[in-house]
Amino acid sequence: MSLYRDDGIVLRTHKLGEADRIVTVLTRRTGKVRGVAKGVRRTMSRFGARLEPFTHVDLQLHTGRTLDVITQAETIRPYGEALVTDYPRYTAGSAMLETADRLTLGEKEPSLRQFLLLVGGLRTLGSGEHEPRLVLDAYFLRSLAVAGYAPALEACARCKAPAVRAFAIVAGGVVCGGCRPAGAAVPAGETLALMVALLKGDWLTADASDGRHRAECSGLVAAYLQWHLEHGIRSLRHVEREPAT
Ligand SMILES: [Zn+2]
Repeated sequence: MSLYRDDGIVLRTHKLGEADRIVTVLTRRTGKVRGVAKGVRRTMSRFGARLEPFTHVDLQLHTGRTLDVITQAETIRPYGEALVTDYPRYTAGSAMLETADRLTLGEKEPSLRQFLLLVGGLRTLGSGEHEPRLVLDAYFLRSLAVAGYAPALEACARCKAPAVRAFAIVAGGVVCGGCRPAGAAVPAGETLALMVALLKGDWLTADASDGRHRAECSGLVAAYLQWHLEHGIRSLRHVEREPAT
């Protein structure tokens, strides 16, 4: 067995047997890791309390044959504390954890940029500086971009023409009049400008946007994310499917 250390954000946990818990962590250097925390459900252990979702933890693990074993956990920053008392922030944070989990499919495939985006997103969310939905949409757009699915926002996704008229998820973003597929949404120019601002981290522009455009932006970003997640994980679903009985 080999020993290693890393720090990461706890994405989710689930029960294993009578007393143990499997903890999924997006780490800085190793990528996504699933580790067993032994005995944490038997007592009100401080060890277990450090391994709750949203917590940034410093971990020591033993490499196992199937699952690694978490032998030490120290809290670096409990991001959950700022979120649990505020429902909009909590749901936005939960959506971030789920998205980080689904955009990092392979275990132990290092993804430093996804890790840094998640830490930054949770920190900004907890600070209360910006509206939770804006923080979440910025996180969605940037994590999609890091995963290779950045939407085209400033020129037609198909022909690169600069004059765009609509937003088409299947085309990969904004499209010109000629490339526009049937059923494409026609968002306000301000909504597209808000999406660009969120992707670039231009908070001055984003904070000054109005509710109408924020709502339209959230709808488009959520639909775009959902489409990519479904198409992205379809192949994995086939791999993991149990044989029919
Ligand atoms: Zn075009």
